[in-house]
Amino acid sequence: MTSTSADDRLALLGGRPAIGHPRPHEMWPPPGDAAELADLAGQRNTDISIKGSSGPVRALEEDFLDFLDHRVRWAVTFNSGTSALLAAYFALGVREGVDVIGPALTYHAALSPVFALRGDVVLADIDPATRCLDPRALEAAVTERTRVVTVVHQWGHPADMDRVLDIAARYGLKVVEDCSHAHGSRYRGRPVGTFGDAAVFSLQAAKAVYAGEGGILVTNDAGVHDRATLLGHYRDRSRDEVTDARLRDHWVTGFGLKLRMSPLNAVVARHALAAFPARRDARHRCLHHLGELIADVPYLEPVTVADDVDMGAWYGYKPLYRPRALPGVDRDLLIDALRAEGMEVGAPSAPRLGTLPLYAASENPLFPGTAKRPAGAMTGSAAEHVEQHALSLPTFTRWPQDKPLIEEYAAAFHKIARQGAELARYAERRAVPADAPAG
Ligand SMILES: *Cc1c(COP(=O)(O)O)cnc(C)c1O
Repeated sequence: MTSTSADDRLALLGGRPAIGHPRPHEMWPPPGDAAELADLAGQRNTDISIKGSSGPVRALEEDFLDFLDHRVRWAVTFNSGTSALLAAYFALGVREGVDVIGPALTYHAALSPVFALRGDVVLADIDPATRCLDPRALEAAVTERTRVVTVVHQWGHPADMDRVLDIAARYGLKVVEDCSHAHGSRYRGRPVGTFGDAAVFSLQAAKAVYAGEGGILVTNDAGVHDRATLLGHYRDRSRDEVTDARLRDHWVTGFGLKLRMSPLNAVVARHALAAFPARRDARHRCLHHLGELIADVPYLEPVTVADDVDMGAWYGYKPLYRPRALPGVDRDLLIDALRAEGMEVGAPSAPRLGTLPLYAASENPLFPGTAKRPAGAMTGSAAEHVEQHALSLPTFTRWPQDKPLIEEYAAAFHKIARQGAELARYAERRAVPADAPAG
């Protein structure tokens, strides 16, 4: 038995923290450089509302088609990813009596707009390795009401598109790809966002390509393009770009909503997209390094990446906790101990969708009196397992500047592994308060 040196004592118990770097450890989005700020200033005094799709709005859409290897024909900007998803669901015919199948554990906005269209959401389990919709669960959930399947390329890992597309073809389903975590991800060499009937990328500030607030819908389907455009872009843009003459009749009013992107946000997004390739490469180096350093930490199940995919933006790094390797230590205590070591770590904030009131309700609260099927909480599912065991770490983006910090993170994980028994004893002492009655 070796005795614990002063430096190796858990910081939770008064030892020296393993991580000395000042916080914050994750700084995102990065500050704008001089060129971006100059473009913003110029745009401010040129045009702060673009009615059609000229200027930075058009330029951003063209940049995006380029980013997707020109495998999609249309890109239409929106004021958020959520708005773009609403437009996608509307364009694909979601309405009362129509079900959309989606993953049980993801960010809610991937599916919540369905309720605004009076549609219903059916949740299917995820594959615990990719964290994306499990194709077997998808197939088991299909009914005669199913019209759309939504995949989310969760944390940057592409969904199993071959199998999803095969199931969609066999049952006549439309496919929505939510690529909000997966800018730059590729499946068998081809960019995500180019497989579905419609795909959406959020450009919200936390995303790998950010406008601040914004989203973009891409499609190869003229009908989807026309209906999505009419939903969010009345007047000039609908008059100039809706291809179907009968639909174009509605150009003055569109379909009643205005969901377009501000040109100032488009300027920010163009700079973020231009900076993306270097940042993507840096994320790969950082997270690969972290993955190698913590591969042998017995209480962590590392993040795995399938052979035929590219993780693109690596939106989040979320290994799973294996509690059996630290008996008596639950995830909350592990997080407390890691935080005491100086780590920015937590449990991911998105719960299983079936536990949220909007999904669990048996009435659509947007349209009182309209029945919907309550989504189950899916106890015992892979979604529940991932929700309850994942650890959320910073997505390091600066290479090599972040290398020493990454090495401190790895050192903190290894220190907890060495001090696991100590941590378990602490948990035991905590569980029995000093003044608890004996027996
Ligand atoms: C961020 C996000 C959205 C919503 O995008 P906003 O631009 O914030 O409206 C939808 N789906 C997923 C998976 C997201 O991460």
